[in-house]
Amino acid sequence: MKKEIKKILVANRGEIALKIMQTCSRMGISTVAVFSEADRNTPFVKYADNAVYIGEAPSASSYLLVDKIIEVAQMLEVDAIHPGYGFLSENPYFAQMVEKAGIIFIGPKAKTIKIMGSKLDAKEAVKDYGIPMVPGTDEAITDNAKAKKIAKQIGYPILIKASAGGGGKGMRVVEKPSDFEEQMQRAVSEALSSFGDGSVFIEKYIASPRHIEFQILADRYGNVVHLYDRECSIQRRHQKVVEEAPSTVLTDKTRKEMGEAAVRVAKACNYVGAGTVEFLYDENHNFYFLEMNTRLQVEYPVTEMITGVNLIEQQIRVARGEKLSFTQKDIKINGHAIELRVYAEDPSNDFLPSVGNLEKYETPQGDGIRLDDGYEEGMEIPIYYDPMIAKLIAYGSDRHQAIERMLDAIKDYKIEGIKTTLPFGLFVMRHEAFVSGKFDTHFVKKHFTLEVQQANNRRNAVIAAQVALRHYLMQKQILKLPKS
Ligand code: ADP
Repeated sequence: MKKEIKKILVANRGEIALKIMQTCSRMGISTVAVFSEADRNTPFVKYADNAVYIGEAPSASSYLLVDKIIEVAQMLEVDAIHPGYGFLSENPYFAQMVEKAGIIFIGPKAKTIKIMGSKLDAKEAVKDYGIPMVPGTDEAITDNAKAKKIAKQIGYPILIKASAGGGGKGMRVVEKPSDFEEQMQRAVSEALSSFGDGSVFIEKYIASPRHIEFQILADRYGNVVHLYDRECSIQRRHQKVVEEAPSTVLTDKTRKEMGEAAVRVAKACNYVGAGTVEFLYDENHNFYFLEMNTRLQVEYPVTEMITGVNLIEQQIRVARGEKLSFTQKDIKINGHAIELRVYAEDPSNDFLPSVGNLEKYETPQGDGIRLDDGYEEGMEIPIYYDPMIAKLIAYGSDRHQAIERMLDAIKDYKIEGIKTTLPFGLFVMRHEAFVSGKFDTHFVKKHFTLEVQQANNRRNAVIAAQVALRHYLMQKQILKLPKS
């Protein structure tokens, strides 16, 4: 059944809110922004056809207010709500309340979001579909002794994971049996405090994995396609910083197998819209289902660049009841794309947030360069939200060209006033492991952290030498002082 969508409320902020609205405008759809106190003068608010203030800066007082957002949507008679990523995008209650209010939720059904929001329920939902899984427990652990036995069978190190976990949080590596109880206790209390759900389970800790995910797209009529893979192994704190498409390690055969598995995952949960099926890929070329994200991913642009498909447009088309206008064989990989997440973080200080004012903000341009950002010069990066300033995307006819263009773009991107991940981007693009494609999820720890430590040690050694010299000179001077 086709439904008309003339007006969309975007329940999000920053670059993604802006990008959604730009796509809406192109499609002749009018837009409504909701914004917090911290975002009053930001580009997405200025861009929207209508903008409504919804509350104080903390997201609990603004971007997470389900009732308030739906009230605004009803007041302005919008036809649909796009949740973007983060905030309410994977909240089944929100999706349900939006639909209940007679508004289209741009995303899958609340039930699908709920299943895939729990890593354990997700595994259960796909288990009969021939999807390879990481060896581990398939239920929440209630009996430590039993779980310890399973851990022994799997073999250490193992990973304790929060079923409701997300954003790289709620994971604990256990190296040896004697650490099991203590780590288990910590994992449960962390899961409870962070996610309000203490369910944890065990997975084999894959020693040198790569994180490879597949973009999928499904309409309401059971048609599901994948738009190939994204490599997301360059991570800090289990969170992605650099992504690329396609991955350098997959053979055509494995790519096909993984793509088909991703489509089966989507079918297993009656998926509708754009979603991502995440896999771990080990040194022996095995892949394992990790989880499914039921929304647009931050790194979706690299897929757009290599397939030429506008994913936000497709989300809206599916939401208004259109059939997918292409089949699997129509989707081809063309070229290579790399994304660098530009975070307000200090890479030389353990990637700690470095919020402040964008005193200088000059953006790069050039062939194949796309910049998705939501800030302007002079603006403050608020402490309340994810500290991502922008996504810098470089496209090339091959990977080498994409890397070269990314290097030039990073050099042309001038940000002053705060520390950013731009220098880290330079480090990655120049590093032999990245250039050769031989890396895994430990890239940062293995290569970058060591380099930073050595640089800090060198700096500390220089500082220590300077202090010693000053001390020595002062002593000399004191010796030379005339006696009174
Ligand atoms: P989240 O939902 O918090 O993002 P994921 O399950 O998607 O958690 O995992 C995030 C990252 O954690 C992965 O990309 C990978 O780097 C690491 N990881 C997760 N499971 C495993 C595992 N079994 N073995 C090794 N690393 C893992």
